[in-house]
Amino acid sequence: MSRKVAVLGAGPGGYMAAVRAARLGAEVTLVEEGNLGGVCLNWGCIPTKAMLTSAEVLEKCREAAQFGVEIQGSVSPDMARMVERKDRIVQTQIKGIAGLLKQHGVSHVQGRASFEQGGELIVHTGEVGREPLEADRIIVAVGSSPLSVPAFPFDGRRILSSDHILSIPEIPESLIIVGGGVVGCEFATMFSRLGSKVTLVEALDRVLPLPSVDEDCSKVLQREMKKKKIACLLNTTVLSCQPTEKGIEAVVGPPGSRSASGPKSQQETLQAQAMLVSIGRAPNTRDLGLEWTDVGLDDKGWIITDESMQTGDETIFAIGDVCGPSRIMLAHVAAAEALIAAENALGGNLVMGYDTVPGCIFTAPEVANVGLTEAQARDKGFDCRADTVQVRTMGKAQAMGEIAGQAKTISDPASGRLLGVHLVGPHATELIAEAALALKTGCSVQDLAETIHPHPTLSEIMAEVAAKASGRPLHG
Ligand code: FAD
Repeated sequence: MSRKVAVLGAGPGGYMAAVRAARLGAEVTLVEEGNLGGVCLNWGCIPTKAMLTSAEVLEKCREAAQFGVEIQGSVSPDMARMVERKDRIVQTQIKGIAGLLKQHGVSHVQGRASFEQGGELIVHTGEVGREPLEADRIIVAVGSSPLSVPAFPFDGRRILSSDHILSIPEIPESLIIVGGGVVGCEFATMFSRLGSKVTLVEALDRVLPLPSVDEDCSKVLQREMKKKKIACLLNTTVLSCQPTEKGIEAVVGPPGSRSASGPKSQQETLQAQAMLVSIGRAPNTRDLGLEWTDVGLDDKGWIITDESMQTGDETIFAIGDVCGPSRIMLAHVAAAEALIAAENALGGNLVMGYDTVPGCIFTAPEVANVGLTEAQARDKGFDCRADTVQVRTMGKAQAMGEIAGQAKTISDPASGRLLGVHLVGPHATELIAEAALALKTGCSVQDLAETIHPHPTLSEIMAEVAAKASGRPLHG
C-alpha cells in the first residue's frame, strides 16, 4: 500500500518508524526540531554510557595495583576531554542515522511539528516558517523531557537536569542527587567514580524502586554503593533548597513532613556544589495541538494508545516515551513499538508485547532484568521458586576482580517454566539478552541448564542458576 506517512520526532522510536515505513513502500517525512537520535543519542543512553566508560577507566587505573600493574605518576580525570569524547561519539552516530534515512529515501525536515485547527499538521521552521504537511498516517514519537518542579528550578549550574550534567565543565566536589531511580543511580555511579562525594536522596525505601527491579537487586546495589561511599538517604525527600555562595543547600526529611517548617528533629541540611534532579520525565505533548485531533491523553499528558500503537484518532499512532511510564520508557521499547506502528500504519495488524522487555541499569555493579520479579510472580498467583547463585563463585568474575552480585531465576517448580531473571553483577546488561530469548521462546530452566555455556565466561552463571532451579545444581 503506498501512503504518505509523517513521523514526528527522530529519537529511536521516530527514526526506526520512518525507516520501516519507507521499507514498506511509504513516502515518509520525518520531522525533528532538534538533533537526529532524540534523547537516546543526545542526552540519554549513548552519552551516559560514553561518560560512564571514562569514569570506569579512571577507576580501573586507580585500582591498577590490585592487578599487579604499577602506574607511575598521578591519574586524574579531564572532564573537558571526556565531554569532547562523548560529543564525538554522538556526532558519529547522528551521521549514521542521517545516512540511514538518506539510504531509505526518508525526507528529513528540521522543524517543530504541531496540529492546528481541523487537525491540520504544520511544520514550523526558523522564526516564521510555517508549512502544512500532508499525510495519510502520522506517527507521533516526540518523547519526553526532564521533569522540572517549581521547588527545584533548573538553572544549569547548581540545580541540574540530566541534560545539563552531561556537559558540565568541571566535576563537582560534592553532588546531591534527588531521585534514586535508574537515571539517579547511573549518575551516582558515574560521579562517585569521578571523585565527587555523592548523596542520593530517595523518597521510597530502596534504590531502584521500580516494579520491574527485584528487591534483592536493589539490596545488592545499595550495599555496593555504600562500599563506594555513596550515601543513600532512603525514605527521604528534599524539602527545600537554596543556592549558596559555594553551591546549594538542601533540607531533607521524611516524605510525610513535606515542608521545611516540619519537625526539625527529623530534618538534615545537606551542602553540595551541585544538585541533580532526576525525579522523572514529562511528556512533550504540551504545545503539540493534540486537542485538534482525537488523540486521548491521560491526566499527566501522556498519549494513550492500544497495543497496536493506535491512538484515539484512527490516522494517528504514538510510540516511545510519549506513551509514558504505564508503557516502558526505554529506547529499545520505542524501537520495537516503531516497527509495530509502521506496519500498522500501512495496513498491518501487529500488537506490541511488553512481557519480555529486558531492563538494563548501568551502575556498578550493573543490574538487569527480564520477566516477573519474585513479588510480581507471587502476586499473580504463581507458586514460584526463586534460586540464586553468587557472582563470586564464578572463576571469570574472580579473574576480572569483579565479584559483587548474583543471578536469580524465578520459575514454576511444576513445569520448570522460567518466569523471570534478575541479574546484578559485571556485564549483567549484556548477559540479560540470553534470558530475554529464553523467556520469549518459552524455555524451561532445564533447557537453559542443558545449554552448554562457554568457559570461562560470566555467562556460565546462567547455566549454574538454571541448574539449581531445576533441582540439579552443578556446583554446591
Ligand atoms: P526521544 O528520544 O525523546 O525523541 C523524541 C524526539 O522528538 C526528540 O528528538 C525531540 O527533539 C523531538 N520532538 C519533540 N517534540 C517535537 C515536535 N513537536 N516536532 C518535532 N520534533 C519534536 N533507555 C535505554 O533503553 N537504555 C539506556 O541506557 C537509557 N539511558 C538513559 C539515560 C538518561 C540520562 C535518560 C534521560 C534516558 C535514558 N534512556 C535509556 C531512555 C531513552 O533515552 C528513551 O526511552 C528514548 O530516547 C525514547 O525514545 P523516543 O523516540 O520515544 O523519544
